[in-house]
This record gives sequence, structure tokens and C-alpha cells, in this order.
Amino acid sequence: MKAKLTVYIPPHLPPVDIPEFDVTWRTAVLDLSRFLDRSRGQCRADVAVEALAAGISTPTVYVLDCDGYYPGFNFLFGLAQPALRTAVVFTARLRGPLFAERLAKEITHEAGHLYGLSHCSNPKCVMYFSNTLLDTDRKSVYFCDKCRRKLLARYLNP
Ligand SMILES: [Zn+2]
Ligand SMILES: [Zn+2]
Repeated sequence: MKAKLTVYIPPHLPPVDIPEFDVTWRTAVLDLSRFLDRSRGQCRADVAVEALAAGISTPTVYVLDCDGYYPGFNFLFGLAQPALRTAVVFTARLRGPLFAERLAKEITHEAGHLYGLSHCSNPKCVMYFSNTLLDTDRKSVYFCDKCRRKLLARYLNP
């Protein structure tokens, strides 16, 4: 049994393997200039989530091909607003040979938040908080048993 998730990606990025969810992939051409802070060259995460949440009723992650930030943070890998059922993941800092794996981990992590999960102290669990790319590379694309049980409980009893 896997929880359902919708992921929007830009057309030039291929879907990645997300073993923890039953994913519906959709492509979206988004005008990122709406979220862009020109002086920083970064997209503002909360503004993007709120704008993209319009009309969303089931857990949905948008992959934004840019770098993201939030006031008080130099950058963010992603941001989820569980109340809005919507999250964003930023690609800019995931580049390299491990790109597909990293993107899958960040999408899974934000989707976990959309299903009510908080951060997990297990460094292998995908809900472990990534401060740096090293944290992302060290953790797996999977939930630990505890997080997976919690997520499925939330999926079955929203
Ligand atoms: Zn998180
Ligand atoms: Zn966990």
C-alpha cells in the first residue's frame, strides 16, 4: 500500500524513481519570475507554495528548476505547507551525477510533510532534515518504519 502523490515537473526534466509513493507525474511550464527575488537570484519558497496551491486538493509537489530561499535562510531544498496540501522542491543545489536520486529524496521528504510527518532523528530516514547536500546524500529515499506507519495512518484516515 502506497500513499498517492501528484508531482509537477518542468517538461525538460525526466520523472525520477519514487518508491514510497504512488506518483502521478504531470508536466507544468511555470513562470518562475512570479516568485523570483531578482536581487538574490532565488525564488521565494512561501510565495511560490501559496501561489501554486490554488485549486490543489490532494498532496502535490512542484519541482521548480531554480534556487529557493525563505527569509532567515540562505537557501532551502524545499518547503511544504501541509494545510495547503502543496510543496515545492528546488533543483538548483541538487545538480551532479546524483541529481535523480537527490530529487527523489527531496520530493519524498516534502511529500512526507504533506502527510503530516515531522523531521526524524534517524539519519537514514528520508524525513531526516537536510542542512547540507551531504545530509541528503547520506539519507535514503525511504521512510524508516516508524515514519512509514505514521504516513499510512494519515493516508488512510485523513
Ligand atoms: Zn523537512
Ligand atoms: Zn523516520
